[in-house]
Amino acid sequence: MQEASIKNRSLEYLSGLTETQLISLVTKLQWPSFKAQQIHSWIYKKCISSIDEMTDLSVKDRDFLNKNYKLSPLELTQKQISEDKTIKYLWKLNGGNQVESVRMFLEDHDSYSACISSQVGCAVGCPFCATGKIGFKRNLKAAEIVDQILGIQKDTKERISNVVFMGQGEPLLNYDEVLTAMNLIKDSVGIGARHITLSTSGIVPNIKKLADEKLQITLAISLHAPDQRTREILVPISKKYPISELMESLHYYYEKTKRRITIEYVMLDGINDQIEKAKELSDLIKGLHCHINLIPYNPIEHSEIKGQRSEIRIQDSHLPSPISDLCLKRPPRKRIYNFKDVLEKRSGKKVTVRKERGVDIAAACGQLANIFNKNLEKGQE
Ligand code: SAH
Ligand code: SF4
Repeated sequence: MQEASIKNRSLEYLSGLTETQLISLVTKLQWPSFKAQQIHSWIYKKCISSIDEMTDLSVKDRDFLNKNYKLSPLELTQKQISEDKTIKYLWKLNGGNQVESVRMFLEDHDSYSACISSQVGCAVGCPFCATGKIGFKRNLKAAEIVDQILGIQKDTKERISNVVFMGQGEPLLNYDEVLTAMNLIKDSVGIGARHITLSTSGIVPNIKKLADEKLQITLAISLHAPDQRTREILVPISKKYPISELMESLHYYYEKTKRRITIEYVMLDGINDQIEKAKELSDLIKGLHCHINLIPYNPIEHSEIKGQRSEIRIQDSHLPSPISDLCLKRPPRKRIYNFKDVLEKRSGKKVTVRKERGVDIAAACGQLANIFNKNLEKGQE
């Protein structure tokens, strides 16, 4: 294909193309192959904002690319910085939907982590999660996933060392694009698989499929309850993929990858924070190579939006009180640490309590619902 013959097509994005795809692109254009490496490096290493910045390409080549391609599928619309320096980004996607990402500083590693989204909204509908309240809008393309990292690096001029798929969406319900994105993050952005964590609500067939890819990523499972009845309320997809099948898939994942699994457990007052639950949990994970991360519940439906704090209630007429009509709230600190101690002693496994970040700007776990301070102008901090 010559330069002339690709004209009149709708514009495609350069960001999101692998090095191999760029080589085939320049080959079709009858350009020398080294130009593919140059373009690849501009996109993924130098994190440029426009094709015009590809200064080692001729003006003619840049003009051609500008006429036929766009650089990035994301447009930064808003940005907020938390008191703890966590940054939350709002991106506009092609078609008008918006999606969020968060950049956090990891003190222990003296490096930055990006929490990225894989879908607009989410179909799983966990009652404690702000993203679940949006409902499912659409899957993100691999380029839209990877570009969140590139956009953050571009904005901050600082390298991202860790990536967690813990933003909006259920990554294993967008399997192919997420897999392509993980490979791009690894091979093109240059963040090793061991620095990538994928968090899932437990899509059993795709956990097994992912196991067979034998990637060295960390798999995090949003377990949240050791018993089927409570888990069905907290993570509704559990009705389809029960705990017994989920546990079996986790053992399979470990067998295939030899990677220790992270068990995530959001702590909700009076719902899943009893000592009996800690004991049940430790029995459930016996024999599984895992560590447990307790996540103190972060309030959603912020006072920022409605001018007053509203309560989320779980209503389930099949459940006896007190579970049937409990207000979602974070347990007192002492209760969280009691739970931790019992779990640690009984299971012999490492148990950590997740440090919250960015709560003041609704950037903490589960708070991402495309809600920004309305007074902010485009791209403003
Ligand atoms: N859909 C995936 C990944 C995104 S959510 C999943 O559910 O695993 C990332 C993590 O944040 C999950 O463990 C999720 O259960 C947790 N989370 C969601 N809402 C939360 C909230 N309000 N407070 C604390 N953690 C929450
Ligand atoms: Fe979806 Fe995860 Fe939120 Fe549940 S916690 S609604 S799976 S994003």
